[in-house]
This record gives sequence, C-alpha cells and structure tokens, in this order.
Amino acid sequence: MALNIKRPNGMEDVVPKNVHKWHTVEKIARDTAESFGFGEIRIPTFESTDLFLRSVGETTDVVQKEMYTVMAKESKFTLRPEGTAGSIRAMLQNGLLNEALPQRVYYILSCFRHERPQAGRLREFHQFGLEMAGSSSPAADAEVISLADTLLKRLGLKNIELYINSIGCPSCRAKYHEALHSYFENRKDELCDTCLDRLEKNPMRILDCKSPVCQEIGKDAPLILDYLCEECSNHFESLKKYLTRLGIEYKVNPRIVRGLDYYTKTVFEFVTTEIGAQGTVCGGGRYDGLIEQLGGQSVPALGFAMGIERLLLVMDKQGCDYLAPKKCDIYFATMGENALEKAMELSKSLRGFGYFAEYDMMGRGLKAQMKYANKIGAMFTVVLGDNELSDGKVRLKEMEKGTETVIALDDKFASSFEEIYFNKIMDVMEEETGNDNLLSFMGGNK
Ligand code: ATP
Ligand code: MG
Repeated sequence: MALNIKRPNGMEDVVPKNVHKWHTVEKIARDTAESFGFGEIRIPTFESTDLFLRSVGETTDVVQKEMYTVMAKESKFTLRPEGTAGSIRAMLQNGLLNEALPQRVYYILSCFRHERPQAGRLREFHQFGLEMAGSSSPAADAEVISLADTLLKRLGLKNIELYINSIGCPSCRAKYHEALHSYFENRKDELCDTCLDRLEKNPMRILDCKSPVCQEIGKDAPLILDYLCEECSNHFESLKKYLTRLGIEYKVNPRIVRGLDYYTKTVFEFVTTEIGAQGTVCGGGRYDGLIEQLGGQSVPALGFAMGIERLLLVMDKQGCDYLAPKKCDIYFATMGENALEKAMELSKSLRGFGYFAEYDMMGRGLKAQMKYANKIGAMFTVVLGDNELSDGKVRLKEMEKGTETVIALDDKFASSFEEIYFNKIMDVMEEETGNDNLLSFMGGNK
C-alpha cells in the first residue's frame, strides 16, 4: 500500500546516510563557539506569541506573514521563527544577566516560518546562533563577527562576503525615519500595501521589502550612514578598525537593514552568490534595546544566526569535506546458533572498547553475510563456526588487502583486536603521509 501521508511542504527529513553532514556543522559550530567562551542554551520550541510580537517587531515580514500561531486552551503560542527572542527570555528568566558579564550563549535549533518553499527557503529550517549580553563595546561586535568568520573558514567555505552596516541608535534613527518618510511619501502610489502601512509605522522596513517594485524605489532612498550620531559613527569606525586588525575582509553595505526590528548600530550579513537567490548564510547585529524591551535591565547585546541548510547547500556545492561517517570496524559472519551467541558476546566486549561491531541478524548464509560485510565497508571480518569454537581461535581478515591474522577466542580477544586495528591505522597513516608519527598525523602533518 502506498503511503498517502507525506511530510508537510517546506520541511525536510535527514536520513542516516546524510546525517554526518549535519554532525560536521554542529560539531565545528559547537567547538568554535566554545573556544570563544559561549555555552549552549536549550529553549522551548514554542513561546507565548507576545514574546515575538514584542521583540521581532509588528511591522516585520516574520510577524506579519510568517508565524505559525496556535491557540492552545486559553493561550496563544507561536512556533519560534528565530532563536534570539527565546534565548533572551531564557537568560532573563534564569537570572543569567545577574551573573558575570558578558553572558554568552549559543544554540542549534529548528525555526518555523510560513514562507514560500524554494531552494534555501524552508518552513522548518535550522539555525546555529548565538547571543552575547553585557558589552556595548565595538570589540564585542568584532568578536562576534570574528566567531562567524572563523566558523565559516573552519567549515572550509570560500567566496563568502561579509557586509557590514550601522543602522544607528533610536536617536539618530528618528532623523533618518523622517528623511525616509518624506522620500517614500513622494512615491506612495507605487508602494505595495504592506509598505504603505510601514510608511507610517516604520519606514525603514520598506528597505527590507521583497517586492521588486519597492526594492527599486528603495535604491535611491537616503542612507542611514549619513544620519549616524557621533557615538554610533565612532562605534562603527572602531569596529572597522578591529576587523582590519583581525584580517577579516568586509564591505560596507549601507543598504543592509536586516529583517527583524530589534537591531541597533551594527548589522552584518555573510553572503554567497553560489546558491541562487537565498544567499545569506548568516545574519546578525547589535540589539541594545531588546533586553529592556522584554522587561529586563538595560543591557546591551548582540548576536547572529546562520541557516544550517544554506550552509550545507554551499558546502555541497563547493565540495567541502565532512567528518567521515562511522563505518563497521569488525563484522562476524556466523554459522550456527553457538557461533551466533559467541559473536554477540564478542561484539558486546568490543563495543565496550568503543568499536563498531556487527553480526548477522538476518539468518543469511555465509556467502551472503560476506557480501553484506563488503557492502557496508567493514574493515575486518571474522568467520565463526563450530570449528573455530572448538579450536578456540579465529582468522581476522583485513578486508582491503585480504591479509589474515589468527587470534585466540579468549577473554583478551578485544585487546588482541585493538592491537591489530592500531597497526592497520598506522599503516594507513604512513601510506597517506609518509609518516608514522601519530601525534604529527593528528596535528595535521601539513
Ligand atoms: P531572508 O532575507 O533570507 O529571508 P532573514 O533576514 O529573514 O533572511 P534571519 O531572520 O536573519 O533571516 O535568519 C538568519 C539566517 O537564517 C538567514 O541568514 C538564513 O541563513 C536562515 N534562514 C532564514 N529564513 C530561512 C528559511 N525560511 N529557510 C532556510 N533558512 C532560513
Ligand atoms: Mg526572511
């Protein structure tokens, strides 16, 4: 019977043969964040709708068009469309901001947005993101951008451009809003309905509109950089100086305003042109007013989020390396019930040493078992039957070269295996690098 229930549009499954790609990004992301002093935070999948209304902003696409909201009993909840609001809520609720500052958290989580599904744009997608709270210094902005840059490089990505901008603080933005308002007021008749509403409430949002007509009109709009107050302007200059010192290439793009309302001063994006229209792999910036807006103290903060699916699209496209998926170290081909039981026992002890051991559970004949071992790429195989059991020894076969070593079926089996396994790894190292020094091999031996 055909399965007539399919997964919802705009969502994806990850099957085991592809999950190593996710593990690669997750591991390198965690290691990088932790080396910058960030700790992982885990937050609920949905939050009170009000949290997103208050933080993401009522005039944003996310709030106006993309949220999945449900009434559950008497309360209104929304599946998180991003991770910042929930993370800040959790930092406040758990008193993290009363501890030593800066507080630094990172997360890897799924987000939900009702958008039109296309390459790089899903309805459930995943983000690696982080937030740093407590520092208003541009050194913090440089640190966060440097973390993103380090991660993208550690993943092996190339040709990703960093664009930075400053969208000022509420005081410089008031003047800018006035200038934008009068600019767009003159071309009011051409704006889309959503932007007409934005014109009165938050004209800067028009610059982030996806409609081609509004984008065209926006091209000649006044630039925020011309309206920055002295403090914001100095902040931006220091950031640029620090990025240069860190050897991080950037371009100032005065048109970046970011899709969410809570940003102040620095905003940035890492963009590639290699995966089509949805090329922003990372977006972030400073949001000095957000914590207070959510009912906390006035604490400056900043962060970014990367779309993991988009990262993987670029990594695939560029042929980046992934951490190798785990393969079977030793496969027991068994004949008869006694051999099966022995294989169970040996596998249990080998797994205790951390090896990936497997034996037949399909009742296959010997030939079919060996074929299976080949198919899964087992490094070693052992044939186990009544003869081997009565002799008390087996032949361990290294599959690539076909060499065999006899080892005893005693309680030292796992450590005998370990020795042979280790020699095999040394051989591979020598072949690959011409060097049998394990430490230099592990250090990269470049
Ligand atoms: P866009 O302009 O592409 O809609 P955004 O400004 O809405 O992006 P953010 O809210 O800043 O995106 O999210 C941070 C990152 O999450 C994006 O840079 C992108 O990599 C990823 N992302 C956002 N929306 C989606 C989506 N619908 N599907 C896949 N990834 C997404
Ligand atoms: Mg969007």
